[in-house]
Amino acid sequence: MTLHPELCEHVQPGTWPFEVALVIDEQVGFTDALVACRRCGAHYLLEMLDWRGHHRLMRIATVESERVRALLHDLGRGSCDPKRAGASVEQVQAGAAFTPWLLLLDARAMRIEAIQPVPQGRKLPTVSWRALPCDGSWLDDVTSAVGCGVTVRTG
Ligand SMILES: [Zn+2]
Repeated sequence: MTLHPELCEHVQPGTWPFEVALVIDEQVGFTDALVACRRCGAHYLLEMLDWRGHHRLMRIATVESERVRALLHDLGRGSCDPKRAGASVEQVQAGAAFTPWLLLLDARAMRIEAIQPVPQGRKLPTVSWRALPCDGSWLDDVTSAVGCGVTVRTG
């Protein structure tokens, strides 16, 4: 049994189960990326929502592995056309299904600190972090929940 049925069982606080398949955007480390679970190969799209210091808050979407494989194949073959590559990446991003979870990452230690539901009453943005305020307000909401002992744990 898992508390986050939309994610594979290996995505747990205190771990770093991800292998980066493709960095889509970065700012001192990746901000948006396609990743795969090292244990079961499930693919996810991580996109930064907010950050402060070495903490990064990510929305997480599931992506069909077939689509990721096709994309990587495409990019390997057509990397000389960045415009086309961008369109293929956008297609995969558009086909990703966002889960109701937010991952709080420690980008320095490369560790999932916490997995929290999207705070009640807040709508998950779909735009890039570059179009978001990234003023720490999402982080405050999520870390205050963690501070109250509402951390998500199995068992
Ligand atoms: Zn897994």
